[in-house]
Amino acid sequence: MNKIKFNKESGPREVFCGLTSIVWLHRRMPDAFFLVVGSRTCAHLIQSAAGVMIFAEPRFGTAILEEKDLAGLADAHEELDKVVNDLIARRPEIKTLFLVGSCPSEVIKLDLATVAEKLNKRFLGQVRFLNYSGSGIETTFTQGEDGALKALIPLMESTEEEKLLLVGTIANNVEDRFKKIFNNLGIKNIESFPPRQSTDLPKIGCNTKVLLTQPYLSDTLRDLQHRGCEILYAPFPLGVEGSTKWLLAAANAFKIPDLKVHEIIAPLANRARQALESHKNVLKGKKLFLLPESQLEISLARFLHNECEMDLIEVGTPYLNKELMEEEINLLPENTKIVEGQHVEKQLDRVRESQPDLVVCGMGLANPLEAEGIHTKWSIEMVFSPIHGIDQAADLAGLFSKPLKRNHILTTKTLATNKY
Ligand code: SF4
Repeated sequence: MNKIKFNKESGPREVFCGLTSIVWLHRRMPDAFFLVVGSRTCAHLIQSAAGVMIFAEPRFGTAILEEKDLAGLADAHEELDKVVNDLIARRPEIKTLFLVGSCPSEVIKLDLATVAEKLNKRFLGQVRFLNYSGSGIETTFTQGEDGALKALIPLMESTEEEKLLLVGTIANNVEDRFKKIFNNLGIKNIESFPPRQSTDLPKIGCNTKVLLTQPYLSDTLRDLQHRGCEILYAPFPLGVEGSTKWLLAAANAFKIPDLKVHEIIAPLANRARQALESHKNVLKGKKLFLLPESQLEISLARFLHNECEMDLIEVGTPYLNKELMEEEINLLPENTKIVEGQHVEKQLDRVRESQPDLVVCGMGLANPLEAEGIHTKWSIEMVFSPIHGIDQAADLAGLFSKPLKRNHILTTKTLATNKY
């Protein structure tokens, strides 16, 4: 690992909780239902997040624990039972139902694993029940996906068949393009986890080669390793550099020469580098500060420095799995400052002191920073936009160059108006 400055920080946090990931998970697996066992705050979060992002009938619900339920666990169980019965009667298309835990103390006391076990017996052959936590006390927003995938692993059957398993939700069209490249390389047996249907789970075993598409799946990775899967460590497929190294890692595991990979991706990489130029003109030399939220921060910092020539002031990340991120960290420039965890006030002080051109942060911090004249980019946009792959490199850079361009135009107009 090259010379990187690692720091840890703890204190008040300002991040979305793991419930947020339901928004992209239910889009990925339309036959699954996410039942949030939580308070009205949870219901508001999930409804406003989804209301902004999707226009379909939601496939998640919230079992709201009223005041009377909070007085005793028996009532909470009863309420949950009633909601599940109603739901299954009304929505026979549901094949997998996730009970998603949240923060209120009465919910924490509920043993959702036992509830899921009982429901599995009652609805045997009709619906599968699983549970995980999306609580803000235990998770940041991308970790919800880690919990959901980990819960699915025990349902995956075993196989000795050799395959490449792409792990982590990405946009379906991006996934199709990756599969096409792998096919051209000669890797034919490729599956994805999560699959597009919750019941269509891939089989796994000692000849399964796991390639992560997202960096926030540490628990899932560990459980896949326990099931005998081989883990392919690589930078993540963001930008030309990350995507190339990611493809090379898969090719090496299948004994495909590097030269073949470079031949196949050369036209794509050339096009992407050309398309990046106009964004690089805007981003070059601009100071970037990444606050911790999505766990994508290290990969984004690597892309924005190495391919867009931005200067990194600080790279925050809610959690750091050094083994998983080693290949990424090795690509960062010397003396990059990585801060794991959060003390939001101290971080905001450092932001103000360093006067960055752009701050990547959560939605809650963006407005106050903008009000102070500091330009921001919501980190949540990175998980809702198709940013993976060589051909998406320019679009990814565009997410950062657009706000800077817009602000430049606004400043120029204001200056011109003031002049006359
Ligand atoms: Fe619910 Fe806790 Fe998330 Fe708030 S932080 S929405 S209470 S799970």
